[in-house]
Amino acid sequence: MSEPTKPPMVRCPSCGETVPYRTDNPYRPFCSKGCKAIDLGAWASEQFRVEAKPPAAEDLPD
Ligand SMILES: [Zn+2]
Repeated sequence: MSEPTKPPMVRCPSCGETVPYRTDNPYRPFCSKGCKAIDLGAWASEQFRVEAKPPAAEDLPD
């Protein structure tokens, strides 16, 4: 009664491919290095747009 341990399946946030979430995949939850790079690039540009305005002084710690 022993089942092989299957990694959870996740969808690559970049291309939507269903890939096993394995700890030996350095690009998880992405399917590949390329998809991770694409997603990080999109996230960074999105973040840049959101954070375009300078932070208010009263919001800064200290
Ligand atoms: Zn992918």
